[in-house]
Amino acid sequence: MNGLDQEQCNYLLAALERTQDRLLGQLSGEQDVAPTTRPPPHEVEASPADNASTRTLNELVQEAAQHTTIQLRIVKHALLKFGDGSYGLCEHCGVAIGYSRLNAQPEARYCIVCQTRFERPRR
Ligand SMILES: [Zn+2]
Repeated sequence: MNGLDQEQCNYLLAALERTQDRLLGQLSGEQDVAPTTRPPPHEVEASPADNASTRTLNELVQEAAQHTTIQLRIVKHALLKFGDGSYGLCEHCGVAIGYSRLNAQPEARYCIVCQTRFERPRR
């Protein structure tokens, strides 16, 4: 069990769906491609080679789009977990993540202990 009651689940689900809508809106604005009809972001590298002057800008746009795509993937992943009942559980150690953490970050995949371990400073 993830320790969430029905109301909390509904709230978090709604928050995730709002985030998903926002990210999808950002993607369609950035790329002029409807991501709902073309989910795999593999063909982003369609910049023509002779268009070198706009390359940097394209890269920036692609970077932003990639960031949004990654965010979107994380949110979709969380929504999937609602479907299979694993939402709210740490994917690493399996403990309940807790409502206060999920409330701040509905797409959280790990409990605070694991997350802190993963994000440990590199020096
Ligand atoms: Zn954990």
